[in-house]
Amino acid sequence: MKVAVIGAGLSGLGCAKILQQAGLEITVFEKSRGLGGRMSTRRTESWQCDHGAQYFTARSAQFRDEVDSWIRAGAAAEWQATIISIGERPADLPDARKSETRRFVGTPGMSAPARFMAQGLNIKSQCRVQTLQRRGGGWLLGYQSANGATETAQFDWVVCAMPAPQSSELLSSSAPDVSAAIQRFGMQPCWAVMLACDNPLEASFDAAFVNEGALSWIARDTSKPSRKGAECWLLHASEQWSLDNLELTAEQATTNLLAEFARLTGIELNAFNVTQTSAHRWRYARNGDAPDAPVSRLESGLKLGICGDWLNGGRVEGAWQSGRHLAQSILNCATCHHPNPDR
Ligand code: FAD
Ligand code: NAD
Repeated sequence: MKVAVIGAGLSGLGCAKILQQAGLEITVFEKSRGLGGRMSTRRTESWQCDHGAQYFTARSAQFRDEVDSWIRAGAAAEWQATIISIGERPADLPDARKSETRRFVGTPGMSAPARFMAQGLNIKSQCRVQTLQRRGGGWLLGYQSANGATETAQFDWVVCAMPAPQSSELLSSSAPDVSAAIQRFGMQPCWAVMLACDNPLEASFDAAFVNEGALSWIARDTSKPSRKGAECWLLHASEQWSLDNLELTAEQATTNLLAEFARLTGIELNAFNVTQTSAHRWRYARNGDAPDAPVSRLESGLKLGICGDWLNGGRVEGAWQSGRHLAQSILNCATCHHPNPDR
């Protein structure tokens, strides 16, 4: 059985791995050059910085085992950070400083666990899937390959492992009902600004949850284990600010968020301490709560599976669980394993 997995984030890779171990023939399509999706690191010659997911927790025994395997492989480590809270903490959240939560990061950058999981998988990176058509009881994928050519490939099954709006769009003509059903899972944007500093900033913390103004999170990326290069800080804007300022240029977002960082921390930023900046706009960063959502979605009649963090809590662990859950559902499905009769 040939399966195309679209998206090499944690959900797609988690799904692909289990299906391949069960003997299915898997091809993973990824539009970007790097793997890991929203677990990603920006790199330059003189600095690096995680600009998507900042760390992950492991609440389930299965994910703890997985994280242990990453740690043994040198692809992750615990981040023992001093994390403060700025502004009034929401009443339902415990104090981060008192919590015994263990937080982990990829090493040497956030995409390392994805690269580790990808070992042994057939991954077509820089291949954006553009069309999906039902064909011969299976699926015909149209994709743009790394050299810019438009190509097609036939599969028995398709797994969509992308943010909800991207999966919904790709399925709009071939599976309109499924596309409409997942359209309700809207996702919110997040502006990220990175600043590299030749002279370390004088701060008494490694990271901060921010509950006022334009920011939601600040982190000294170089306080994470195995980071190389100049001191680097990461700022995430709040959901509301990101929504209100979605169409700013990267320069405008940077100027605004640096000013907010200086206001909140009292740290003066100037050409002496900040030498380079960079910004990234995540259009689909996080989802709202969807307590009634299944962990993953199996459309056995269509030979289609859907997974992603947005179906399961919007975090790294949830993404991984969603991909594994989908793989198990495909393997458990009695009618799913017949090859297409007309192939
Ligand atoms: P993704 O990682 O989004 O993977 C989807 C993949 O599909 C991407 O690689 C994308 O390039 C690819 N793709 C999309 N369309 C196509 C196409 N047409 N063809 C081919 N490939 C395609 N979680 C935490 O646990 N802790 C945090 O601290 C945290 N902070 C976050 C901060 C930010 C700013 C963001 C954006 C996210 C954060 N998250 C955090 C959430 C976490 O990153 C996600 O839950 C998780 O990485 C999602 O994995 P996924 O596989 O579901 O999706
Ligand atoms: P976690 O266990 O570290 O987060 C929960 C704990 O962190 C809480 O118990 C509390 O102690 C502290 N905390 C969280 N938010 C806080 C706040 N606003 N103020 C003060 N303390 C706060 O980690 P997790 O549950 O694995 O969640 C991962 C993190 O990923 C969360 O902080 C979440 O906001 C973040 N995230 C961000 C995006 C984005 O787009 N920016 C997307 C998805 C997840």
